[in-house]
Amino acid sequence: MRRMNDFERKLYHTVVHNSLLFLEDGLKRLITDGNNDLGDTIVLSCTSIQISLELAMRAYILRNKGLEFIIVKKQKDNNTDEEIEKLYAENRLKVIEFEALKNQLKEKDASVFTKEDFQIIDDFQTYRNKLVHFCCPLDNNELSKLKENLMYYVVRVVLCLLYDNYEEKKPAEYFEELLGWDFYRTLINDKGYIRAIQQLAKEQAKDVGLCPICGRIAYSIEDEFCYFCNVQPLEDEWGRTECIACGRKNSVIYDKMNIHLKGNHHSMPGLCQHCESHPQIFECPICGQTYWQFSDKEDWMCYDGHCTTQGVDYKD
Ligand SMILES: [Zn+2]
Ligand SMILES: [Zn+2]
Ligand SMILES: [Zn+2]
Repeated sequence: MRRMNDFERKLYHTVVHNSLLFLEDGLKRLITDGNNDLGDTIVLSCTSIQISLELAMRAYILRNKGLEFIIVKKQKDNNTDEEIEKLYAENRLKVIEFEALKNQLKEKDASVFTKEDFQIIDDFQTYRNKLVHFCCPLDNNELSKLKENLMYYVVRVVLCLLYDNYEEKKPAEYFEELLGWDFYRTLINDKGYIRAIQQLAKEQAKDVGLCPICGRIAYSIEDEFCYFCNVQPLEDEWGRTECIACGRKNSVIYDKMNIHLKGNHHSMPGLCQHCESHPQIFECPICGQTYWQFSDKEDWMCYDGHCTTQGVDYKD
């Protein structure tokens, strides 16, 4: 990864800070301005989010490509690094416009986004222009839809741009830290937010299933953590076995820590993270094999008190 110099880093932190400031303003209006006219709320919200996006793009390019890629060519060509710092201090540094930033992100080597993401950005642009510049009234249906899409847009586009993985943080951890716990807590119940995180999980994880903790389809079975609530079971906390109902390998989880406690008869309720079946899982304390109880049991299976694999009886 590219390393920023001191001046770039200073600038970067300011840009990220301001991007978040506008982002928070835009989102807070969407979430809390229930008493105001929805159209007015969205006009103000769109404006803040647009500024936030521009700053996030700038931050992203600054971080990944360098300062020279975000200032106008004339200043870049005619000034030394020291002179550029001086221009900044005097408030005379000129940065490039939104469309030029967007085009840089469209370049192959730079892109964090897919074609669909750029479509989302363009759609937002169209709506925003309609609302802010031409004052075209949207009907209530369009407004409600836009409200939900805005949230999705913010998480999907703006927060992904701001995501610098200097420290290896899980997405939920990162969003919470960036937005602050109080605000984050309000956000996680929003439909658009939920959709955006589930989409993120679907794209980034190979095998996504239901999270038994938060109930979202955002759990990475391969990496054992949830994109939404960030639950990360300890090693051997959850046992895994195949699902007879849907045929997936390793998709049924059960409480491995407590399965052999006295009184449990080596059996615990399980949950398939794909088809949501709820089998009762038996884990043999001798050979470690697991079985679905109360399914069509075959003779060779181990059961409570007897391990068929090793041919021994045991007590408790
Ligand atoms: Zn979860
Ligand atoms: Zn299943
Ligand atoms: Zn056994």
